[in-house]
Parts: sequence; C-alpha cells; structure tokens
Amino acid sequence: MHQRPSIVAQTLRAGFLVLLSACLVPIHADARPVSRVVIDPGHGGKDKGTHRGSVYEKNLALQVGLKVEALLKAKGMPVTMTRRTDTFLSLEKRAAIANRYKDAVFVSIHFNGHSNYRYHGVETYYYGAQGQKLAAHIHLRLLSRLKIKNRDTRQRKDLAVLRLTRCPAVLVECAYLSNPYERKRAQKGSYQDACAQAIVDGIFAYKTYR
Ligand SMILES: [Zn+2]
Repeated sequence: MHQRPSIVAQTLRAGFLVLLSACLVPIHADARPVSRVVIDPGHGGKDKGTHRGSVYEKNLALQVGLKVEALLKAKGMPVTMTRRTDTFLSLEKRAAIANRYKDAVFVSIHFNGHSNYRYHGVETYYYGAQGQKLAAHIHLRLLSRLKIKNRDTRQRKDLAVLRLTRCPAVLVECAYLSNPYERKRAQKGSYQDACAQAIVDGIFAYKTYR
C-alpha cells in the first residue's frame, strides 16, 4: 500500500535537495563577470608624474603595468593596456579605452609623492561600490606582499580617470617616491613583481569571491 510521506519526511527531503543543489554548484563559479582587465600605467610622455632625481613615476608605473599584463596573460585573462610606451594620454582617453569593453575592470597604476619625505606607504583609490570591492581585494594583497604601511583605500570622486570609467575602477599608489627608502625599493624588479602579483591576485579574488 502506498502511503503519503509525512510532512516531516517531505520537509527533510526538500532540505536534502536544497543542500544537494548547493553542493553541485561548482566551487570555482565566478561571483562577478570579468572578461577583460584594462591596465592604465599613469602619466607618460610629457607628463612625468612625481619624480625625484632621475626616478620618474611614469617609468615605474609602466614597468609595473607591463608586469601585470604578462601575469594576467599567463592566466589567460584578456588585457588592454592604455599605453605600452612612454607616450602622453589624456585622462579622458584612458577612460574611453576602458569604456569600449563590457565586463571589464580598470586598474590605474601610480606612485605617490609628497613635500614631506616622511610620508610613506601604499594606498588604493576607487570610485563606486564595485570599485570599492575591487580596491579592497587588491589593497589587502599589496599589504601582505609588500609589508608596507597601510594608508588605506579611499573613494576619490575628484579623479577623472576613475569617475569617467564606467566599469569597476581603482587607482593604486604603489609607494611614495618622495620617501628615500620607498624610492629605492620601488626601482627594484622584485618590488615591482610583488606589486604586479598583488594586483593580479586581487583582481582574481574580486572575480571569484563576493
Ligand atoms: Zn600619478
């Protein structure tokens, strides 16, 4: 004789199915669609950025940017560079390049400068809620890889390159070139490698985790 399952059995079975379907969702499922990374090495050409002696922000930003590009491509992630040489590019043009793509993220790479040489550390700026999440992932990894003073993440509505970019956008200040210790570190390939790896790890963490 066929008996209707009790309400308790039905509830248990429903609960089991919910649990089963949750387990069947692949753990590598991406939380956010990121189909391209737009890397923007700051400044360039006539715009040197901050500088001390022969150390120019525009050159260091490009060196880190090219390392990020290589790491991302090695992981199969499509990359667009706003510049790959020492050329000038307006902020509007940089944002327009990013705005060509759907589901992109934008990372602008800079080094900081201050009139007080004691200022040091790393800071990450963002614009918008998704930018904030991307900034948090990248910043956390910069801190752990670089062992550097935490100057936090901050929303910057005044930075055109972030404000005009429609996709999640962040700007990383990798070190203070006005600080003698950080200026020396920033020129080392190993430091630039660590910056690049932190940025790449942060992007993939943003893509994967909520
Ligand atoms: Zn800059």
